[in-house]
Amino acid sequence: MIRSHEKSITWSGFGVGFSIIAIIVMAGYHNEIRYTGSHNWLIHTHEVIQGLQRTLSILQDGETGQRGYILTGQYSYLQPFYEAVDESGEQIESLSELTADNPKQQLRIAKLQSLIEKKFDELQETISLRKEKGLEAALQVVLTGKGKILMDSIREIVGQMRDEEERLLRRREKNLRQEIFYRRVAMMLGGIIAVASFVLSAFLAHKNLVRKQIEDLNRRMKESLDNVAHDLRTPLTRLRGKAELALESPQDPEVYQEALSDCMEESERLIKMLNTLLDIAEAETGTMKLEADPIDISRLVSDVLELYNYVAEDKNISIHFACPKELYLTADHGRIQQAIGNLIDNAIKYTPDGGRVDVNIQKKDERIVVAIRDEGIGIHPEEIPKIWNRLYRGDTSRSQRGLGLGLSFVRAIVLAHKGRVEVFSEPGHGSTFVVFLPQNR
Ligand code: ADP
Repeated sequence: MIRSHEKSITWSGFGVGFSIIAIIVMAGYHNEIRYTGSHNWLIHTHEVIQGLQRTLSILQDGETGQRGYILTGQYSYLQPFYEAVDESGEQIESLSELTADNPKQQLRIAKLQSLIEKKFDELQETISLRKEKGLEAALQVVLTGKGKILMDSIREIVGQMRDEEERLLRRREKNLRQEIFYRRVAMMLGGIIAVASFVLSAFLAHKNLVRKQIEDLNRRMKESLDNVAHDLRTPLTRLRGKAELALESPQDPEVYQEALSDCMEESERLIKMLNTLLDIAEAETGTMKLEADPIDISRLVSDVLELYNYVAEDKNISIHFACPKELYLTADHGRIQQAIGNLIDNAIKYTPDGGRVDVNIQKKDERIVVAIRDEGIGIHPEEIPKIWNRLYRGDTSRSQRGLGLGLSFVRAIVLAHKGRVEVFSEPGHGSTFVVFLPQNR
């Protein structure tokens, strides 16, 4: 119940982390659009302010041209005047478009347009008078101050429009600063929450994993204990049976002697089995004391092969050994010898008479690779995962001597040396066991 609760918290944590990241991305995108919008509005406001400035300077150009012409009578002064007339129209149009979203500014633009038209009419009037009636007539009109009044009104409207735009500019700048601030806060907060969710989820996932490993270990220990209990019962029953039988028989020293020797043999078997079980447990739990001897692997394997020579000869099995010279590793000599011995023992044991066993040693990526190949009965694919279990014995191997502990011991020792062992096998076509041992543990 608690476990499924924790599992759901773990997944929810990852879910929350991913959702927050998705929200941050979406919010970031949304914020980016708003930020770009606010930024565009700022540019827009600056354009209006510049446009207003330009309108005034166009009018000033127009006035400068008019005055130059009135005073000198030279047509060249009229050039800036006519340019100002043309440009003022375009400028008003552009201002009108830029402020289309603001009704107040639109009203002012309409007023400004009419004042500018009047101003240019006034300028045009004085120019025409200068052309037709001379300087005096034109100056008379200029001196009425009508043009100045128009210009003052234009300046006032432009001033109002600029104030409005500057007010908008301040508001938009404030908005932009807020957007930036919110973006930073959202990203920081989101980031912190996402990281926290991931850390929490990873912690819970790790906790679940450790719990699963402990449960797995417990289950395997229970299975082993069951197997051990089962495997102890058979020889112990046999032992008791032999003793009982001897006691029931007439007091014949020969019968007693035979029974005692059988009991000794059975006890030896039991002690060997218990010792191997203890060794495996020690190697698996990392409490086995391993020596760090410099080992000439070729020598070690040759010594093992020599021990099995007699058994191999007995079965007429030929053994082929190949190893490059001077191949060293640091490991526990005794334990590695036992492990390799078990594999060679199995290869000979499970190979029919007249067969062949190959032992090859190589060095690969700072590892010593020992391959033991036989032409024996092979192992069924379904059996392969089980052969490493304590006390497991294949159905086809029951006829052979053995305790079902050889491979568990090999694996435990190799793992304790930070190596690994693999098997490739096909029923009826033999097996190859390959041990990989790091040269330096
Ligand atoms: P055993 O004492 O039965 O040999 P092991 O742990 O050494 O115990 O091996 C476990 C089982 O794996 C064996 O019972 C056998 O079925 C299978 N096995 C191991 N080595 C070989 C091999 N070289 N060829 C075929 N089967 C093998």
